[in-house]
Amino acid sequence: MFEDVVRPEIRALEPYVPGRSIDEIRQQYGLERVIKMASNENPLGVSNFVKEALGRHADTVFRYPAGGNPRLVQALARHWNVPAERIAVGNGSDEIIDMLVRMLCTPGRDNVVCFEPCFSLYPLQSLIQGVELRREPVNADFSFDFDKLLSHVDENTRLVFVTTPDNPSGFCPRPDAVKALAERLPEKCLLVIDEAYIDFAPEDGETEADWSLFTRGDLPANACVIRTFSKSYGLAGLRIGVGYLPEELAGYYWRARLPFSVNILAEEAVLAALQDTGFRRCTLETVLEGRRLLTAELAAMGCKVWPSRANFVMFLPPERCPAKKLYQSLLARGIIVRALASYSLPDYIRVSVGNREENRLFLDETRAILEA
Ligand SMILES: *Cc1c(COP(=O)(O)O)cnc(C)c1O
Repeated sequence: MFEDVVRPEIRALEPYVPGRSIDEIRQQYGLERVIKMASNENPLGVSNFVKEALGRHADTVFRYPAGGNPRLVQALARHWNVPAERIAVGNGSDEIIDMLVRMLCTPGRDNVVCFEPCFSLYPLQSLIQGVELRREPVNADFSFDFDKLLSHVDENTRLVFVTTPDNPSGFCPRPDAVKALAERLPEKCLLVIDEAYIDFAPEDGETEADWSLFTRGDLPANACVIRTFSKSYGLAGLRIGVGYLPEELAGYYWRARLPFSVNILAEEAVLAALQDTGFRRCTLETVLEGRRLLTAELAAMGCKVWPSRANFVMFLPPERCPAKKLYQSLLARGIIVRALASYSLPDYIRVSVGNREENRLFLDETRAILEA
């Protein structure tokens, strides 16, 4: 009945295919133990501080959250030592990405520029908004050519998205190169630096400031940063993302955002998670150690592995066992990884770094499949 009045941008969307869940795989293959290394979630689960805070605040959920999430915004401003007026919080960084597209891009006139492949939300929300998308393939080694990216930018480009470190490859550009990109953009074009995985970038002796313009306190005026509590803080299911925006854009964000999209328990969870520095340190140690292990062992099995600065590793299995076959065989053995067909990389697999036991199981099963 409504077929012909649904907006063409919406009609053109493919039906959503959810990732396979642990329960579903358990049932299908009759397995006791199923592990999920597919969505870059925290390998240690969730902080005890957070669990305790959620219990303590359960009896407040009949209240609406405070408009503008002031406690959360103040806490983040203190944590990062930045002005609260520039902070936007959202229902995951997904909401911040969606809002930036909707706030800045006029359908039928403006365009958005990003790499191919990239995080699916940049193209998807642009498509839904009816905004032209311009994409530049990443280099063969998955690094970024910012000159080529810039060649797509014109006076109607409102947003340029760059992910540092990148998903799905784990590549991380140097902050000076990102800064130079911002400096070459036209005045009314915002560079969006998505730092969902930045915590995992520093290796021995490095700090976050070696990889993040934001942490270094060196963000150009026409750039913004988005961060998430879904990965290193282990709060993916509670949905909290943060944007550090030019002040005037943060003002518009708070006017346009749905008033209560960040809920009371999510707020309390972040406040508690920020306190638990021990959990965070263990998370980073676990991820760096696991990343080294997965990288070395997969390479030893004959896979081509991309060096990763994130909490996942992307690899190309040896020719005798194509990605699709390895993916299916791992599923049948109770291990869910991410096949990258949806990123237009049908030959590649991405595996999230797990805890010690999960990494060991994944490596043992992969070795068994590749040797069969
Ligand atoms: C996981 C991820 C996010 C986080 O999304 P949330 O909505 O905050 O859970 C953002 N950007 C990239 C590139 C990601 O991979």
